[in-house]
Amino acid sequence: MRIRQLQNQLEIRSLEIKRGNLVQNGLFGVLSAALALGCAFYFYHRHVRRTLQALSTTDPLTGLLNRREIKKQLAKYQNEDARQTDRQMALLLIDTDHFKRINDLYGHRAGDEVLSQLAKLLQDACRTEDLLARWGGEEFFISTWPASVQDATAMVERLRSLVERRAFTISDGTELSITISIGFVLYPLFPGGKDRGWRDALHLADLALYAAKDAGRNAWVGIWGVTLDSEITARAIASDIRRAEDAGQIKIASSKSLIWERPAIYGRST
Ligand code: GH3
Ligand code: MG
Ligand code: MG
Repeated sequence: MRIRQLQNQLEIRSLEIKRGNLVQNGLFGVLSAALALGCAFYFYHRHVRRTLQALSTTDPLTGLLNRREIKKQLAKYQNEDARQTDRQMALLLIDTDHFKRINDLYGHRAGDEVLSQLAKLLQDACRTEDLLARWGGEEFFISTWPASVQDATAMVERLRSLVERRAFTISDGTELSITISIGFVLYPLFPGGKDRGWRDALHLADLALYAAKDAGRNAWVGIWGVTLDSEITARAIASDIRRAEDAGQIKIASSKSLIWERPAIYGRST
């Protein structure tokens, strides 16, 4: 009788243990599933966020950064590095010469192929720390830091010459030649000065680019400040570049002789 009772108690105990294990296993399973779901959601969310970020910062045709991203980075630089007044970077605006002709003669798709190849060439010619972007249409932007006048002029001449010598091959096998015009400024225009506005500096680079176009294209023009007057601004210089040069406030270098034909209509807003 006693043995029977003991057996029953043992059976009950073993049933209780089994039930406990079942509950434990069940809980563990539910927790594991929740954890797996949580992880999947986290990685999916991260992937979507990164994809959206890439889409908002890059140009779909060339894969380069877009103009919006560059403006953001320049604004950040202007605010964050306001103490670093003695080091300059070079801001380059590059425009493909007579690009409309490529579209007109070979079609828009061929134009796209040439733009992609040009983007790749520029990327290969830049250092990893340089910023390169598609500024819009057939225009590109490069910032390189730190940069002296010598660095900047060597870089723009190298880019100009690389593009001039390169054969661009479109899908039907035709080889095309193109050229680029470049305008650049050293930014901040006056190291040690108060003016650190990147928009005004870029406006000057745009004026330099148009001067390069007027000089006959396949050319570059660069502007940098030389005055020690810390009150002078890039905006004031842009209002009359030639007067500023005559007054010794800036220096201008170019690969071709300049004409400065249409200063009144130079430049577009950034
Ligand atoms: P300029 O030397 O004065 O710069 O002459 P341009 O012909 O390059 O300048 P214009 O502003 O007259 O024409 C720019 C052309 O670039 C017209 C436009 O159709 C073309 N373009 C802009 N974006 C793209 C693009 O994404 N793909 C293609 N295929 N063409 C583009
Ligand atoms: Mg253009
Ligand atoms: Mg053009």
